[in-house]
Amino acid sequence: MTFYLGIDFGTSGARGVVIDEEARIVSQMRHPWALVTDWVNCWEKTLWSLLEAISEEWRREIGAIAIDGTSSTILLTDAAGQPVDTPLLYNDTRGSLMLKDLSHIAPPNHTVLSATSSLTKLLWMQQLPTASQARYLLHQADWLASLLHGKLGISDYHNALKLGYDVEKLQYPEWLKKLPIQVHLPQVLAPGTPIAELRPEIAARFGFRRNCLVCAGTTDSIAAFLASGAKLPGEAVTSLGSTLVLKLLSRTRVEDSQYGIYSHKLGDLWLTGGASNTGGAVLKKFFSNDELINLSREIDLSKESELDYYPLLKEGDRFPINDPHLPPRLEPRPDHPREFLHGLLASMAKIEVRGYELLQQLGSDKLIRVYTAGGGAANSTWTVIRERYLKVPTFSSVNTEAAYGTALLAMRGIRKEN
Ligand code: ADP
Repeated sequence: MTFYLGIDFGTSGARGVVIDEEARIVSQMRHPWALVTDWVNCWEKTLWSLLEAISEEWRREIGAIAIDGTSSTILLTDAAGQPVDTPLLYNDTRGSLMLKDLSHIAPPNHTVLSATSSLTKLLWMQQLPTASQARYLLHQADWLASLLHGKLGISDYHNALKLGYDVEKLQYPEWLKKLPIQVHLPQVLAPGTPIAELRPEIAARFGFRRNCLVCAGTTDSIAAFLASGAKLPGEAVTSLGSTLVLKLLSRTRVEDSQYGIYSHKLGDLWLTGGASNTGGAVLKKFFSNDELINLSREIDLSKESELDYYPLLKEGDRFPINDPHLPPRLEPRPDHPREFLHGLLASMAKIEVRGYELLQQLGSDKLIRVYTAGGGAANSTWTVIRERYLKVPTFSSVNTEAAYGTALLAMRGIRKEN
């Protein structure tokens, strides 16, 4: 029996999932972040504690491991892989100071031209005094995997997209080579590709097989998509979390930076999508979780809501409407909270439909099926309302854990190799 381990370093904590050859979960563990001051130390300790949480008898059965991390969380290391400074996390915007200079070199509207891209962060970090000791730029997932396999300077093309790596030509573009980059940019592999066996000292310390392979990883949001079960062109995952995030598998690559739409390579397909500021955070502002459950049950599904809202916490959206000044529209407010909730759920469903329509107008495959993840996925009333407008069947995601998707990646990577 061979098991596969996926490890997710997400925004709220780290999780591990061990699956068997039939992709069934045999073990899972989690480690939430408390108040963290030293991130690299926290990541390293968390990695070891997740490995220790797997029962020893299962550790021996694990044939491959992969790790996902938050997109555009990067760090600089010295020649031995030691971080030379604190990492820049996914949502750090200090790189915005470099945007003006970068915009003269990167193609217009390129994904790297964002305050949080890995490339703007790298250019900003290079100005720090500690940068003189730096040899490698690594993403969070690359660095954590290097603790297991011992090789530096290796990444995957999901993490490397926001570094400017050309995922179509599978190389760094010429314009990137013109930048004054003083560190080694990672060699980029397909996610799931076996990199090397576990370092012997790690295998011995934790009782893993000597030939357990460490595979190239991915980002946390792609890992969650892999977990969903969506596989075919036209299949999508809607995440009804604090915000509304759509991801659609397509044979064609779709990009439109004005709407924040870009595509990741996923095997022979493209994973395209966008994110709206509408979503569960607006519901949370008006209703408790119990109210959401109880009032949703009371909604009369035989009637459509006449209310036409654009639910936002503050002005501005990018997808499917690109308008930084778009005002929240939450009027008129009916007397009964049930009707107000009905209007909110239906309006968000219409924004979801508009999002998928926009992706299709820009050339994606036709939407055929939607898997649903996030806190709102449990709301069956919302599912009925959404199906009415989406006009395609919806399903719950097979699994919503990024760590499960990353375990699948390790399993598929190994099978491809053999
Ligand atoms: P995050 O994006 O923060 O990870 P989650 O996937 O955990 O979000 O989902 C949390 C959101 O789900 C909250 O904003 C909440 O409003 C929404 N939510 C929770 N329960 C329900 C429900 N029964 N119906 C609709 N939305 C819900």
